[in-house]
Amino acid sequence: MIIGNRDELIQATQEIVRIASVKDASAGEGKPFGEGIARALEYALAKGRELGFKTENFSGYAGHIEFGEGPETLGVLCHLDVVPAGEGWSMDPFGGEIIDGKLYGRGTIDDKGPAMAVLYGLAALKDSGWQPQRRIRIILGCDEESGWDCMHHYLPIAGKPEIGFTPDAEFPVISSEKGILMVELSGALQCPKGIELVDIQGGNRPNMVPDRCRVKLRGIEDEGLLVKTATKIGAKMDLERDESGITMVFKGVSAHGSMPETGVNAISYALAMLHHLGFEQGIINFLYEHIGFSHDGRGLNIEVKDAFGPLTANTGVISLEDNRVKVLVDIRYPVSFTQEQILDRLTAGLSADVTLLSHGGKGPLHVDGDSQLIQILQRVYEKHTGEEAKLISIGGGTYARALDNAVAFGPVFPGQTELAHQPDEYISVSHLVKLAEIYGEAIAKLGRPGRD
Ligand SMILES: [Zn+2]
Repeated sequence: MIIGNRDELIQATQEIVRIASVKDASAGEGKPFGEGIARALEYALAKGRELGFKTENFSGYAGHIEFGEGPETLGVLCHLDVVPAGEGWSMDPFGGEIIDGKLYGRGTIDDKGPAMAVLYGLAALKDSGWQPQRRIRIILGCDEESGWDCMHHYLPIAGKPEIGFTPDAEFPVISSEKGILMVELSGALQCPKGIELVDIQGGNRPNMVPDRCRVKLRGIEDEGLLVKTATKIGAKMDLERDESGITMVFKGVSAHGSMPETGVNAISYALAMLHHLGFEQGIINFLYEHIGFSHDGRGLNIEVKDAFGPLTANTGVISLEDNRVKVLVDIRYPVSFTQEQILDRLTAGLSADVTLLSHGGKGPLHVDGDSQLIQILQRVYEKHTGEEAKLISIGGGTYARALDNAVAFGPVFPGQTELAHQPDEYISVSHLVKLAEIYGEAIAKLGRPGRD
């Protein structure tokens, strides 16, 4: 299929990128995520109508563009909200400029560009006279980057599509995503004689490997001892002293919490230091003994794995309040386990003075390689790229988890630099057009299976 509406696709992508759809306080009725997101949604739906489709706006939480009828629905799940521009841009993040064949702006690859590619791919299909056997819905979520309130609102009203894909991660096909479980462990602080732990604070979010942990102590006069201990445990540390005590700042290397082995956890070094200073009781001791430097959950009784990989556990945040130390751990468990199984094992592994508060999470996603969905997406990918469509298994979570029988399919090709959430985010025009062709064909095959 050759996209005849190439120029319109490029122009629409530029125009929607120019709408700064960053989450904001509610701007009133029908704008739960603020003015910018509401405008981006209205823009996309208006384009859908212009191209001859039915559209519906679900109170500003999400919308869909619909084509055809059928006993089942194929959902293509995109999102129109973007993360803030952030620092470091050499272009206007909301300018939608094209320079040397690259269309720059926040949301060009994540996920407004792919959303427009899906829309124009479907339009080309409709213009060719094609008729689906499944109802097609391009679902436009408006809160993917935050709490997914878009889907919590939309799906109970509109219903879950029976089959679908999301152009919001990587090619070829992500068929397996680990379960996500956030837990909070807390326990009373017990300090050794003569030393007072005034404060410990590390990390900002459970799903990031923390690159900083600050520990403030009183009762230690010998700075040399701290420096020597830091060297012994291999910690990178800065010392600050004022009249109220000594503050140690441990440094690590940040990474995504689904891949803790790729980062260096600053909290682990802080725990090791405290252990060496004589913290051998209470919660600090438990955390050192049972988590320490590990990220496979072994000390927590949850070291499990299956064919798609091992469980990972990232100690993302530590804090001290009212003499209790609290840590947030982001656990990614393999697809053949349930949240209950992991929680049961974890509970059994805790000591009596440690409290477990579960923060919930998202169940694993796994779609069988023999399924119609995977088989068709693999064929479409191989036809358009000439490359083998290997199935990918990841620890991160994609938008596909919002649905039951859905997977992530693009838009980033293997070997391409991941520009989502980065400064100077762009999509090349040729990439955008290629996406329209691939997504158009994926819709053609999934919307009318059994005909090649
Ligand atoms: Zn996204």
